[in-house]
Amino acid sequence: MRGPVNQPSPAAVSGWTPIAEEAARATRLKHPDRMFPRPTHRRVITVANQKGGVGKTTSTVNLAAGLAMHGLRVLVIDLDPQGNASTALGVDHRSGTPSVYEVLLGEVTVADAAQVSDQSGNLYCVPATIDLAGAEIELVSMASREARLKEALSDQALDELNPDYVFIDCPPSLGLLTVNAMVAAQEVLIPIQCEYYALEGLSQLLRNIELVQGHLNRSLVVSTILLTMYDGRTKLADQVTNEVRHHFGQTVLTTVIPRSVKVSEAPGYGQTVLAYDPGSRGAMSYLDAAREVAERGAEAPR
Ligand code: ADP
Ligand code: MG
Repeated sequence: MRGPVNQPSPAAVSGWTPIAEEAARATRLKHPDRMFPRPTHRRVITVANQKGGVGKTTSTVNLAAGLAMHGLRVLVIDLDPQGNASTALGVDHRSGTPSVYEVLLGEVTVADAAQVSDQSGNLYCVPATIDLAGAEIELVSMASREARLKEALSDQALDELNPDYVFIDCPPSLGLLTVNAMVAAQEVLIPIQCEYYALEGLSQLLRNIELVQGHLNRSLVVSTILLTMYDGRTKLADQVTNEVRHHFGQTVLTTVIPRSVKVSEAPGYGQTVLAYDPGSRGAMSYLDAAREVAERGAEAPR
């Protein structure tokens, strides 16, 4: 482990005293191997929000790492030409590397393009290279252009890697790549940043999800909302949190991810925050969120 574990208490988030929080942290650090429950069925979750910088990639890679560290097999599909998820998971994504682009073209299988992350033997990533930048336009003229990722993620194709969880990290747009992700998944996870403009654009996202539900993927549900970058010093963060909980109820995870420098530093080292500083507040929060995701997945199928 690198770095300090004694971060200041996020009392505003948890409502715990610093001592209680430290005790809980020590317990969790002592039992890193406790397994999370397997889902009742393979869960394919699209992480979407057309706003950039809300924590899609950070949430994708850290939830994925949290689940993988606790015994579950996880595949991350990096569907953003920026390749940030590939970077954070430390997988090669130089131009020419077999990637999600070739997967969309039907030239390689997901199993062939997937690389094991050095952060866990259970954690795989299909990287995105810069080649994906043109895909949004190239897809327009392709046959079954909205369903190419779904076809690539057929049960048969996934059986080779046999993941319990597949996370698809979307680009910050509602274009064809995001539509492909929504058609390929059963669930959408929406990260919402606890800031003023957070709710702006959300109705557009929800309308698009409804369109996909109506025309392309009847079984799609918004299963999970994750509040990110919570700053306990601002009243605004609480207002956004309350408003989101009021609108979306149980869909919102109890765990809120605090704004934390360690979280933003980790990708610079090609790591998730769980690998970079496992004792940090950000890492602990993502671990709690991953546990919640796993516990929900182990309940009766939705
Ligand atoms: P998106 O994928 O939605 O564009 P990112 O996950 O890349 O968003 O996050 C945007 C930026 O904010 C990144 O630089 C990331 O490191 C940083 N960031 C994300 N979550 C946090 C957090 N909880 N605390 C501090 N910085 C964060
Ligand atoms: Mg991103």
